[in-house]
Amino acid sequence: MPYNAVADGPLPELAPHVLQDIYAHARETYPEECCGLLMGANDSTAIDEVRRCVNEQNRYHELDPERFPRTAQEAYFLGGKDLRFLMESLGSSRPVKVIYHSHPDVGAYFSDEDTRAALGREPDETAEPQYPVDHIVIDAQPDHIAGAKLFRWSTSERTFVQAAEYTGERS
Ligand SMILES: [Zn+2]
Repeated sequence: MPYNAVADGPLPELAPHVLQDIYAHARETYPEECCGLLMGANDSTAIDEVRRCVNEQNRYHELDPERFPRTAQEAYFLGGKDLRFLMESLGSSRPVKVIYHSHPDVGAYFSDEDTRAALGREPDETAEPQYPVDHIVIDAQPDHIAGAKLFRWSTSERTFVQAAEYTGERS
């Protein structure tokens, strides 16, 4: 069975270095959001590989501030190369299972902006996630990472709900 992040499927299991690596990434890009992709074998729940992505939000904000009013302090945007990698991985033996990003200062919640990004459009009664992946949001604070939460699409509630929580660490 290919991995598919749906409400009733098993949760991904993060190898210890994965959490350390994405926390380090969030510290490095603070006070801007980091973003990236997590992969693992398609026949297991394991996640053991991190692909750090470049947050293209500032570039798009500068090109078209009306369409992209937020800067990288408040949003993330995966570039074409990373999106292609994501799409091509989905049918492979090592698919992307999670998209992660950080929230500087505001806490690890799944924002309206995050929902729009995951759906690729405004939410309504027919909107579906663009990719069969979960989302991890990292709570980045000035002097430490306070933790992270995993959000997953709920087919019954038709929105993203928290499905797991990870403890933080001091920098
Ligand atoms: Zn967000």
